[in-house]
Amino acid sequence: MAKIIDGKAVSAAVKEDVKKEVEALKANGVEVGLAVVIVGNNPASRVYVNNKKKACEACSINSYEYALPEETTEEELLNLVEKLNNDDSVDGILVQLPLPSQIDEHAIIAAISPEKDVDAFHAENVGKIMIGEYNFLPCTPAGVMELIHSTGVTVEGKDCVVIGRSNIVGKPMAMLLLHESGTVTICHSRTKNLADICKRADILVAAVGKADFVTADMVKEGAVVIDVGMNRREDGKLCGDVKYDEVFEKASYITPVPGGVGPMTIAMLMKNTLTAAKRKIKE
Ligand code: NAP
Repeated sequence: MAKIIDGKAVSAAVKEDVKKEVEALKANGVEVGLAVVIVGNNPASRVYVNNKKKACEACSINSYEYALPEETTEEELLNLVEKLNNDDSVDGILVQLPLPSQIDEHAIIAAISPEKDVDAFHAENVGKIMIGEYNFLPCTPAGVMELIHSTGVTVEGKDCVVIGRSNIVGKPMAMLLLHESGTVTICHSRTKNLADICKRADILVAAVGKADFVTADMVKEGAVVIDVGMNRREDGKLCGDVKYDEVFEKASYITPVPGGVGPMTIAMLMKNTLTAAKRKIKE
């Protein structure tokens, strides 16, 4: 039977530490600010943006919301990004994805100053992560690493399997596990013998986007199982990629959904915003 990794508790501790540092900076006259840009009326994006604003409040970080209409052009959004790049009260810029189809996401990410790219999606930051000399880590994989650390299980020498190879989760996740000397396998939709590969994992990270994808027969006895997936069942309930009840019986540690990786992503965004602001005191 697994121990549950409590993402709410771990994220609360991260946010508390961030808050202390933000308030210490404030006492020295340095304010910390995050600009959150949302384009259009995607209801899921609205929920994420509201949660980010709440987290900013909890961490004493100033949040500046820019809600733009669905028909916003790429040029208009690029102009806003440029303005925020040059605004000293803004330490971090987050453009909520996905963007409407008339806007090229890559062009927007490329336009964000790498020093304010608190999502760590800019090619410069992605490259820095590859070579292990980074300012920011992408929030979801960084949050997963915090959750793994909270168990006391070390990554070094462990067989780690990541299911999913997206730029925002799977690939950076694999890189962070590699930086901690895990032996990492990345699986995707063309992987053969996926179940056999997963079954070798001491640490299994699922980032697929399919409910109940990871079943107990794919999991090694005593594995650490991290569920990044956020899916909606037909009844509207949130669930992960892991068939929780049966995998719970086999894993040593498991993250629930909700209450696992999700809260960590936002906590790491707060941490990255603080890191971005610290640049001001070094200059
Ligand atoms: P994505 O871009 O859709 O990537 C999904 C990955 O899963 C792809 O690499 C895909 O392989 C792979 N995949 C799909 N079907 C598969 C199959 N049958 N066998 C093996 N691999 C398969 O999704 P994402 O952005 O990485 O997100 C993944 C999940 O995490 C989603 O549920 C998302 O909502 C969630 N998420 C949660 C948080 C959080 O804060 N908790 C943050 C981000 C994302 P191919 O590359 O071959 O297509």
